[in-house]
Amino acid sequence: MTDQNLNAVFRSLDERGTGNVSRSALVERLSMAGVQLDDPRLEGLRERLDVTNRAPLRSSTFASLLDNGGSLVSRAIKGDLVIPDFAAFTKEVRELAGQVRQVNDGAVADYIPQLARVPEDSYAVAVCTIDGQRLSIGDSDTRFTLQSSCKPFLYAAALEEHGEHKVHAHVGREPSGMSFNELTLNRQGLPHNPMINAGAIMTSSLLRRDLPTADRLEYLTSLVSALAARERLSLNAAVWHSERESADRNFALAHHMRERGAFPPGIEIRPTLDYYFSACSMEVTARSMATIGATLANGGVCPLTGERVLCDETIKNTLSMMYSCGMYDYSGEFAFCVGIPAKSAVSGVVLAVVPNVMSVVVWSPKLDACGNSVRGVAFLKGLVGRFSLHNYDSLLDTKKRDPRRLRNAVLSDHTYHAIYAASIGDVSELRRLVAHGHDLNKADYDGRTPLHLASAEGHSETVQYLLHQKVCPAPIDRWGNTPLADATRHGQDAVRTLLAAAA
Ligand code: GLU
Repeated sequence: MTDQNLNAVFRSLDERGTGNVSRSALVERLSMAGVQLDDPRLEGLRERLDVTNRAPLRSSTFASLLDNGGSLVSRAIKGDLVIPDFAAFTKEVRELAGQVRQVNDGAVADYIPQLARVPEDSYAVAVCTIDGQRLSIGDSDTRFTLQSSCKPFLYAAALEEHGEHKVHAHVGREPSGMSFNELTLNRQGLPHNPMINAGAIMTSSLLRRDLPTADRLEYLTSLVSALAARERLSLNAAVWHSERESADRNFALAHHMRERGAFPPGIEIRPTLDYYFSACSMEVTARSMATIGATLANGGVCPLTGERVLCDETIKNTLSMMYSCGMYDYSGEFAFCVGIPAKSAVSGVVLAVVPNVMSVVVWSPKLDACGNSVRGVAFLKGLVGRFSLHNYDSLLDTKKRDPRRLRNAVLSDHTYHAIYAASIGDVSELRRLVAHGHDLNKADYDGRTPLHLASAEGHSETVQYLLHQKVCPAPIDRWGNTPLADATRHGQDAVRTLLAAAA
């Protein structure tokens, strides 16, 4: 980082201009930006900072602290991360999480006792962005099993090893329109897609057949751990045994697939299913799952370690499959209403991925009739209700906030162009904007409209044009002023006459 850059960051932290910055102020500003001190990228800073030391930092010590973490610290403090106003985003997410906590419908999965025993009111929301900004609410450090949410990882691993062509010679990519464990195959005798049980049993069978059983397992846990910034992952042995004991349907699916010749030659059913149950029994927390999702959102590079774990083509295919098939029999509805690739599981987790932005994980074990977490679906619907995160929201001139932009930049560029054009009396620019379908009534954050600006600046021709365009003649800005009041205050008599006539 250049000295100039460093000085600017220091000055921004030194709010009173004393030449000193407290260590806690630095940590707090980072945390407001969503950058936590336990971030692996800040290892050096964490060691050197020593938060227990109350001595303030001077500009010279500040520089020596930053070292490698410098560019992350500077970007966080300057608001240059993907969600620039992370504090405002956090506030809204917390508010929404509080509302959704009140939702109490649904029932915990009880096909195995280990799931039935999970406290039904458990609830966590976790976010991780592609810049590693993190937010965790509720039981975000409680472990739960991946269950069906292992399916995207099994599929991704199969794609990495064999490529799309070979994998899809054994599994389709259409929603099945039927329950996740339905005893059915597509017209070619293959599982409909990799997000349902038959498909995940198939992708399990394809993985690292060259390795002994224990190494095959280690390969998968190591892959998922790399997605989660190298966090150590555990396997829940009790869940594994229970899954295996209650797996008649999964055995039936595997036998049905073998009968139809769906597997590659030489596949054995029992080890394949054992592998699949191991994947289902891997334990994560909402917080670690959010890191995993952020790696997917980031095209396969883990934002916290910088490690490329999966290639971008694999991510594209995996997210496409999650988008069309990830939410059981609710996948089409979810793609329509929420418009974000997601995968849910009977353990009550929903992993949602907003490509190039972030992942959002909700864990709450009570499920609806389709098998999706009730609070998970409610939260994600609420989130796209507040923020323009639906895949096709970019087509709308919506009032929803885009967390990728600063609060005062949420208005479309057209709104700013129109206000600026009015302030300099540029009628032809206003005409061009109207041709783009822009509504000239649109105001900025302060409620200022093109008519306010044109009136205050005394541009009669522009005022006339706007009135001809039938804009509201008396909009009120945030200080209670109308264009007429502005024209009066600035002594614009010609404009006053026009506005008075239009009133
Ligand atoms: N282990 C479960 C099964 O294969 C996964 C169910 C799920 O999460 O959909 O039946």
